[in-house]
Amino acid sequence: MRLKFKQLLHNGVSAKLFDRLLKQRCLLCTTDEGGEFGLCDACYKDLPWHTAPQCPQCGLSSNGLVCGSCLHSPPDFDATHSLFTYDFPLDVMMQRYKYGSMLNLGHIFGKMLSNKTNLANVDLVIAMPMHPARLKERGFNQALEIAKIITNNNPEKLDYLSVQRQKLTPPQANLPLKERVRNIKGAFTASNHLNGKRIAIIDDVMTTGASLNELAKTLKQAGASHVECWVVARTLPK
Ligand SMILES: [Zn+2]
Ligand SMILES: [Zn+2]
Repeated sequence: MRLKFKQLLHNGVSAKLFDRLLKQRCLLCTTDEGGEFGLCDACYKDLPWHTAPQCPQCGLSSNGLVCGSCLHSPPDFDATHSLFTYDFPLDVMMQRYKYGSMLNLGHIFGKMLSNKTNLANVDLVIAMPMHPARLKERGFNQALEIAKIITNNNPEKLDYLSVQRQKLTPPQANLPLKERVRNIKGAFTASNHLNGKRIAIIDDVMTTGASLNELAKTLKQAGASHVECWVVARTLPK
């Protein structure tokens, strides 16, 4: 299965062909028929689901209670829901989604995340904002596409106007935690009051949580009463 999937990825499947494969064949092994999420039962079960006991606040492994790190210095977000750990083959799927060769994955991730979260628990859904220059470069905001699917039946909950990213920061990847925090500080502005709102932030991957924390801080400063991170994948320390 894995070899075929890798071949498929490296061969660069076109979006149109990908559409056809998605409808007919499992997205990963292409030998069996794809189900609701475009994956066969075996590949679906084989994904790195984040089901281990975890801290409800930050999503890292714990005994299921709030972890020591969150107790010691509580993050600005109140809860984290993550579908997967950022491991194979999810990591490769995510790279293909973000860099545009597997755009349909946004739809699949959105549907999967909808099943894991409860939209009734929040008033607003906000996707991790992208700086306009970055958006121009990439052509789409991968988090916003997922947020659109999650709010498909409640589009009034999708808020893409209240928060902007004002600082063009170098990519966070490869930076140590302290530098990530410094890099992202002051990156967001909230232009609307969010008094008493319960908000879910949507993002693709939560690594150290520095960006999500900075955004949560901005939302709280604008009046939000509760902020949750809804992410496709959580990077767990090795
Ligand atoms: Zn399969
Ligand atoms: Zn924690």
